[in-house]
Amino acid sequence: MIRASFTPLLRSALLITLVAAAPGFANTAGEITLQVDAGEIGRGLVHVEIEVPVEARPLRLAYPRWGADWEMWEESIFDVTDLHFRAGGKELSWRRDLRDVFAFEIDVPPDATHIKANFDVLLEPDGFTPLLARLYWEQVLLLPPEAALDDTHVTAHLRPPAEWAAVTALKQSESSDSGLTFHPVPVRRLTDAPVIMGLHSQQAEVLAPDAPPHRLVVFADDPEILSVIDHLADQLGPLVTEARELFGGFPYSTYTMMLVISDHMSHYALEHLDSSEHYYPTDAFIGGVLETTRSPTPAHELVHSWNGEHRKPSGMVPRDLSTPLTTELVWVYEGLTTYLAYVLASRSGFWTPAEARGAFAFNAELMRSEGGRRWRSLQDTADAARFVDRSYWSTRRRNTSSFYLEGSLLWLEVDVIIRELTGGQRSLDDFCRLFAGPEAPGGTYELDEILTVLNRVAAFDWRSFFDKRVSNTRPEAPVEGLELAGWRLVRDDEPSEFFLGVESRRDQNHFFFRCGLTVNDQGEIDDVFAGSPADVAGLAPGSRVLAVNRHRFTQPRLLRASGSTELIVEQEDLFSIRRLEIPEGDDFPTLERIEDRPDLLAEIFEPRRAAAGEESARAGRGRR
Ligand SMILES: [Zn+2]
Repeated sequence: MIRASFTPLLRSALLITLVAAAPGFANTAGEITLQVDAGEIGRGLVHVEIEVPVEARPLRLAYPRWGADWEMWEESIFDVTDLHFRAGGKELSWRRDLRDVFAFEIDVPPDATHIKANFDVLLEPDGFTPLLARLYWEQVLLLPPEAALDDTHVTAHLRPPAEWAAVTALKQSESSDSGLTFHPVPVRRLTDAPVIMGLHSQQAEVLAPDAPPHRLVVFADDPEILSVIDHLADQLGPLVTEARELFGGFPYSTYTMMLVISDHMSHYALEHLDSSEHYYPTDAFIGGVLETTRSPTPAHELVHSWNGEHRKPSGMVPRDLSTPLTTELVWVYEGLTTYLAYVLASRSGFWTPAEARGAFAFNAELMRSEGGRRWRSLQDTADAARFVDRSYWSTRRRNTSSFYLEGSLLWLEVDVIIRELTGGQRSLDDFCRLFAGPEAPGGTYELDEILTVLNRVAAFDWRSFFDKRVSNTRPEAPVEGLELAGWRLVRDDEPSEFFLGVESRRDQNHFFFRCGLTVNDQGEIDDVFAGSPADVAGLAPGSRVLAVNRHRFTQPRLLRASGSTELIVEQEDLFSIRRLEIPEGDDFPTLERIEDRPDLLAEIFEPRRAAAGEESARAGRGRR
């Protein structure tokens, strides 16, 4: 899901109300009619009306607690307001389920075949601006908790604000002054095709040879920034081509990449089978170009169409709303995707090889500083993935970013092992084709299938390999893949481009690997790495450094300090003196060549489109 790798974001919930039923919405048994009036979405209000057949008594209806991805929406039900149930125009009484606050039990008259529910959804402030908004269909649904998500069909109608464009991967059956009507689809499909709406937008066609249509749609609060579409559409052509080379075909017939540029919405990215959402602040584009640390995000969400949507762990495809999903294979879902996104970002020119190496070095160093590795396996971070991260003491906990970041290193190791075993004849590319390409079966998978397909590519005891790397607790840094690929993790006195990008993106926090703390330019400590000098000094997240060796704190002053350093620290209104023992050495992770090994990273990052006989990386671009 995701979401942009390593900026997990919490989405929140949404909206609704309802609109008077329009003619032509005759309901049939088992089908749900949904009308969403988003005319006020620019101030965070959505009005919903939903008509549901009565197939059981007592009738229970539940509000989805899962989003399109695997994150749990813990409190979204409390955004549902002004809830009314009616049959034949008569108001019905209801009571919330005592064991499940997401569910309602409704008194239905014996002769009623359908009931209508009307409600409003109150959007969280980071889900809309006065000029644009996103709508997740699961935020406007009420369903019988046992209704099968693949067999329950919904006919949806949406009225966006006047003059706003609305974009979704759903196919429209009708468009009129009263809004858009979509073809009936199963709930599972509906919730995989959110809508972005906005006053200012621009569209471009992404051209790539031998690929189905790909379109890029950019929404922004400020219409001037829509011009980033030019460079991005140019970059996406080679990306689509490299994805085709990797997987051998496409699991969709059209693809829509929806990009929102706003400083007022939460920033993340989320995958769907044939669309993706990307939310960026205005400073994510430097001179019209997506900045380094975000460069793999378009590739990440695109890869998810194969690894995440076309193929999905069975535990992440619950039958109905009453079945909890399980995330034990999210280290494949997100870890493999993170690695493949790095590969495609490099092959398609989003990243230089140096930028890609900077990312691997950063990930490896961050994993090395994870104190939580001593108590918690990568598998456990996957098992508990649906719970939201906390930013403080993050390395002590091992947050969910581990299966993204360590995933990049784990799947690199798989790739280089295959290359070693087959004398360079095969690679993870072969696995991708067999696992998710046009000849693959599609649908859900279990770990056994991953092992079987890997063995078809290169015979090896992959089960023991993953036992060691994933199931076991493992304090040491996961650098084996880098070393097999000819690169060693070391520290340098100069930060990489990637490192600088991470720093600026994290709002002036300086990652201080040598001391194990992140501190911003106000001296505020965000995090302390377990077992680090900062940990030994007794520093705590949430406190603030006031002085360094009796001089007022500045970030450069702390960064220049060495040896035994006295800090005056404020925590709430209490002050203390802490002694930080700063070790000798450099701060910045980087990769250094192991000269007697071949440089497999260079091989992996090599564009495939040239090998496939396409002379140019650059595909043309149309505009409409
Ligand atoms: Zn993801």
